[in-house]
Parts: sequence; structure tokens; C-alpha cells
Amino acid sequence: MAAEIIDGRKIAGEIKEKLGKEIEELKDKGITPSLSSIQVGEDPGTKVYVRAQQKSCQKIGIEYSLHQFKGDISQEELANFIARLNEDKKVSGIILQMPLPSQLNGRVLQQMINPKKDAEGVSPANMGMLVYGRPILGPCTAMAVMELINSTGVKLYGKEAVVVGHSDIVGKPTALLLLNKFVTTSVCHIATGKRGTLPQCIAKGEILVVAVGKANLVKGEWIKEGAIVIDVGINRVEGKIVGDVEFDVAKERTSYITPVPGGVGAVTTAMLLKNTVEAAKLQS
Ligand code: NAP
Repeated sequence: MAAEIIDGRKIAGEIKEKLGKEIEELKDKGITPSLSSIQVGEDPGTKVYVRAQQKSCQKIGIEYSLHQFKGDISQEELANFIARLNEDKKVSGIILQMPLPSQLNGRVLQQMINPKKDAEGVSPANMGMLVYGRPILGPCTAMAVMELINSTGVKLYGKEAVVVGHSDIVGKPTALLLLNKFVTTSVCHIATGKRGTLPQCIAKGEILVVAVGKANLVKGEWIKEGAIVIDVGINRVEGKIVGDVEFDVAKERTSYITPVPGGVGAVTTAMLLKNTVEAAKLQS
């Protein structure tokens, strides 16, 4: 059986088209969604993300303001700036671009963002609401994973899922979103890898989400036949971007699989835009 390749770019395009229409309606009511992006230092990856975010926002009518700071800015100065954005009525959403220089505590700074302006959905308040099954602004990547799974049309109730990776912003919230849909969810992490039981754990997954950041960590033959596979990983190998799953083997035995690139990444950006629109509505 050869898998259907889930086209993340197409799904993202559909989400953005809907958002564009919603933004037009909001503007008619005097509400203009705006995203304030904070960039510190000269990280080349961040520059690429920022340009892509700016383009996507402009295309659908979200105002995008980029606030650039030198790499030696102090924690206090940045904290004060975030406090100003929190107070600014014209700002709907805020995103703090990562990675940050080592003198800054990104976790603490992210926690300072007003939860109603937390465009990435990673503040403790938003994560807490996820635990209660009522996310307000959800974590973008985990929500993108759910959009991709839902795009298959497969009923989730009672299915077995395996999430590999338990990071605070991807693995854990993805597991919670699946649980909230009555999916029986197992989470694997570094200890599963060290114990050597990753293949047995993965074999149970009718839905498999991999978010580790190690190229080809998950061998195609470990995956349950007919599974839905969402590969979140982004790895650079010999100048090419690849995921965490051995794609060529996996696509021959699964029912649906996301490519890397062209899968989760595109939808994650669409979720950032969606959260910005939700944030604008929350504050109006
Ligand atoms: P992270 O914070 O480094 O988390 C990686 C997770 O993988 C950790 O929970 C780690 O466990 C676990 N892990 C490490 N080695 C393992 C192994 N051998 N077996 C099982 N689990 C193992 O990374 P992240 O932020 O979640 O991101 C994961 C990947 O997704 C990265 O490649 C990142 O670039 C990508 N990503 C993509 C998008 C997108 O939009 N496409 C968005 C975000 C992230 P321990 O913590 O216990 O070591």
C-alpha cells in the first residue's frame, strides 16, 4: 500500500484563504489584527522565519511589526518592551522569535506575554487551558499536527496514537490535543529510546507523530501498516531538509504521511496567523 502524501502547503493555503475573508469582515467592524514580532540578534534561521511570517501576514491583511534588538539587550530591557506591547491596544498578537542569545531567559520572557496576545499559544495560561480541554490560543505546531490528522477525514475516537518527543511546545501539547479527542495516546521520549523499546512502542500507533529532531530516527519498518504519520522533525542533512521518519520506506506501508518540507511547517505558520486573528477578537 502506498500512502497518500498529506499536502501541508495546500491545507495551509485553505486556512489562510478562510482567514483572509474573516479579516475583511473584522476590518469592516473596525478590528485590524496585528502581529508584533520581537527579533534579537542575527540568527540566520530567524531572519528566514521573520520574512516568511511578514509575507504571510501581509498577504491576508494582518499588520506585521518587526521589532529588532541587538544581541546584547538585557533581560530587563526586553521584559519592559514586552510589557509595553502588552499594554498597546493596537497590538493583537506577540511572538518572541527563538533562539535567543544566552544571557536571556526565553522561557521567562515568553511567560510575560499577555496570554490573550500569546500568538504562539505557549504561555502557561494557554497550556493550562489545553489541559482542561478548552484551549484559547493553542500551541501552533501541535494545532497544525491536529489539522493535518483531521485532513485525512479518519475518525479519531478510540484510535491508538503514539507521540515521539515530549517537549513542552510540541510533544506534550500534541498528546493532550489527541487525548482531548478520546485517542488512546502513548508518549515516547529519550528514556524510551535509551531502553531500546522505541520500535515496539511505535508499532502500536495507528496515528504516529514524531517530534524529535533526529534525521531518520524512526525506521519505516517499525511503523504499523496503514498508520497516519505526521513528521514534525526538521533536520538538515547534506544540504537537504529531512524529517525524523525514514520517509521512503514509511510511505510504502502507511495510509497517510506528511512530507518534510511541505508538511507541518506550512500549517504551523497558518496557525500563527489564526491565533493572531483569534487574539484580535479576544481583545475587541
Ligand atoms: P526538543 O525540545 O529538542 O524536543 C525533542 C524531544 O525528543 C525531547 O522530548 C527529547 O526527549 C526527545 N528525544 C530525543 N532523543 C530521542 C530518542 N532517541 N528517542 C525518543 N525521543 C527522543 O524539540 P522540539 O522543539 O519539540 O522540536 C522537535 C523537532 O520538530 C525539531 O526537529 C524541530 O526543528 C521541529 N519543529 C518543527 C516545527 C514545524 O513547524 N515544522 C515546529 C517546531 C519544531 P528529552 O527531552 O527527554 O531529551
